Amino acid sequence: MRESIREILARPEAGGEVSVQGWVRTARHGKKVSFLEVNDGSSLSGVQVVVGPECPGFDTEVRGLGTGCAVEAMGKLVESPGQGQIYEVHAQTVEKIGGVEEGYPLQKKRHSFEFLRTIAHLRPRTNTIGAVLRVRDSASRAIHDFFHERGFVQLHAPLITLSDAEGAGQMFRVTHLDPSDVPKDESGETDWSQDFFGDSAFLSVSGQLEAEIGAMALSRVYTFGPTFRAENSNTARHLAEFWMVEPEVAFCDLSELADLAQAFLQSVFVRVREECEEDLAFFDQRIDDSVLSTLANVTEEPFEKITYTQAVEILEGAQRDFEFPIGWGTDLQSEHERFLTEEYFRRPVIVTDYPKGIKAFYMYLNDDDRTVGAMDVLVPRIGEIIGGSQREHRLSRLQGRIADHGLSEEDYWWYLDLRRYGSVPHAGFGLGFERLVQFITGMANIRDVIPFPRVPGSAEF
Ligand code: ATP
Ligand code: MN
Repeated sequence: MRESIREILARPEAGGEVSVQGWVRTARHGKKVSFLEVNDGSSLSGVQVVVGPECPGFDTEVRGLGTGCAVEAMGKLVESPGQGQIYEVHAQTVEKIGGVEEGYPLQKKRHSFEFLRTIAHLRPRTNTIGAVLRVRDSASRAIHDFFHERGFVQLHAPLITLSDAEGAGQMFRVTHLDPSDVPKDESGETDWSQDFFGDSAFLSVSGQLEAEIGAMALSRVYTFGPTFRAENSNTARHLAEFWMVEPEVAFCDLSELADLAQAFLQSVFVRVREECEEDLAFFDQRIDDSVLSTLANVTEEPFEKITYTQAVEILEGAQRDFEFPIGWGTDLQSEHERFLTEEYFRRPVIVTDYPKGIKAFYMYLNDDDRTVGAMDVLVPRIGEIIGGSQREHRLSRLQGRIADHGLSEEDYWWYLDLRRYGSVPHAGFGLGFERLVQFITGMANIRDVIPFPRVPGSAEF
């Protein structure tokens, strides 16, 4: 493995020999010299390779190099006279490693993100998607480090599950039955007991219930993996397959959870700002000019914290025609969330204590008997980025809530057992990882912050 271009550009001084491997972004062929802008994806910046007639194959191979070709160039690293670059390479040899056939779809002009999605096998070679993937990686590592430093154990939750964490539909079924010949029971319904797992099975919408098992033994755990929702919503904030980060903490209440969420987000933002300075400057310049100021703002100031009831009062008092009417008992829609965080408070907002009727059965029932210990973190541009709650740890309350939701205790026997054997107050949240990357980069569509988006009607690549 040779030095990456990132490593070459980080050299303290020019002068040495270098070998550069990468893809030609642009090639300019002058009479006596060729300029090849070579990028290997290790950083936004590539390096300019300057090739003269003394280079073997100058008139033949070098002159034929164009956008997309893979090359290896060896030569001297010299200080660059050009603006915006420190070094360039004066090549002694240039070898074409992989040529480009007619019709290379990526040209120098800017392509629309819609078009780039149709060539997801090539789009990581663009500035924007390359930068997204580096930011994604940096954020992912920052998340693991944040938890590791605080003694959390990563728990690998299963992807296939028999239970529906939310008690609501929108799951992908996992089956090995032949769709043209499914076994039936006496009443003519599909007999799922003959399916692979002996029951209906699905792709998981959340690792939370399993994370609770982990927390009831290891105190602090988190999951970080893909989750699946068959929601047919063609929005810029929903995917059918997305990554979720779900910490779960024993001996923890809602207010401690809110503190954790704030510390967590801020620490990830700080890390990515340090590690991806060049990429973030690019997003600020080319994608959304509020990227850097928003990141600075959210890392320096504490988040606002209000109850759902206060949020509804603010929204009712706002001189605003919302598309969805707001009133106590209705869920906050994206437009409401964005009003609170973008216009009213102009910073991230943690909304707590939602009406029990609009939240999941496992959330802690407050003393008022009307609200539960739920918590959503709202951020500018995105709205909800985190959803969490203190969990109901009292057996009889949980049984009551399961009944209220029309669920069966049998399906949750092990979840209820956790309340029978050494139950403690505990709390956790789920962060949508792609929404985090969207927030950091300013990318408008969630499909452009995951390498291979899965959405209704599309799962190619
Ligand atoms: P929303 O109301 O935006 O659909 P939700 O209430 O369904 O979100 P939760 O079930 O609380 O979300 O999931 C936790 C987090 O996962 C959310 O805060 C969000 O960041 C993310 N998330 C939820 N659904 C999706 C999706 N389809 N695609 C990408 N991220 C998602
Ligand atoms: Mn949803």
